Amino acid sequence: MPSVRFRVAFGILSALWLSGCGGSGQYFVAKDEPWRATEERACLASGAVQESPFIKTKLSLGGPTVCGAERPFELAATDGGRVTLQPAALLRCPMIPQVNRWVQTSIQPAAMRAYGAPLVELKIAGSYACRPMNHVSGAYLSEHGHANALDVSGFVLADGRSISVKRGWRGDYRDRAFLRAVHDGACQHFTTVLSPDYDANHHDHFHVDLARRGPDGLKTVCK
Ligand SMILES: [Zn+2]
Repeated sequence: MPSVRFRVAFGILSALWLSGCGGSGQYFVAKDEPWRATEERACLASGAVQESPFIKTKLSLGGPTVCGAERPFELAATDGGRVTLQPAALLRCPMIPQVNRWVQTSIQPAAMRAYGAPLVELKIAGSYACRPMNHVSGAYLSEHGHANALDVSGFVLADGRSISVKRGWRGDYRDRAFLRAVHDGACQHFTTVLSPDYDANHHDHFHVDLARRGPDGLKTVCK
């Protein structure tokens, strides 16, 4: 089965590249996933993402490995520039409109309902990183390695209030209601959403990504 041999060889190559870089010492297995390039090119061609003072094109990520994206973006703000990402996130094209929709249709209404103040900042705990899932050596390459994932650890409102996932997920009634609305809203816009309820690795942030899972690529995870 040539495809299996290809995948295995790819994984070994990835391992060699990474360990050769002298980075974290972790290696990962990369799958052959042609949908990624197809989807990214379609997004770029659609004009869904335009450069702006807060959306900048990055030429490449990851160097000569399976990591990165063809034309990733650095996203410094969303919602028309009203909500900054701190720090700016490195993301592939399809993620950018979904982050914007999540903020506009889920997080902003939830912030107004719970606190009467709009969101002005997302605290970003991670975006692009060429690493295995959950930092476990030998695991599959994380969606973060494809710039197809975002970790959000907190939300800052216009009145200066800051809500963290770590404290608020099991915090007072209002923080819990806000964070659950934010989480449930994310499940409308991303194919994978992981909260502190998922596992200990996610005790202090929401992970959202646009992975295609399952035989038909339509499996979603909202936990
Ligand atoms: Zn993550």
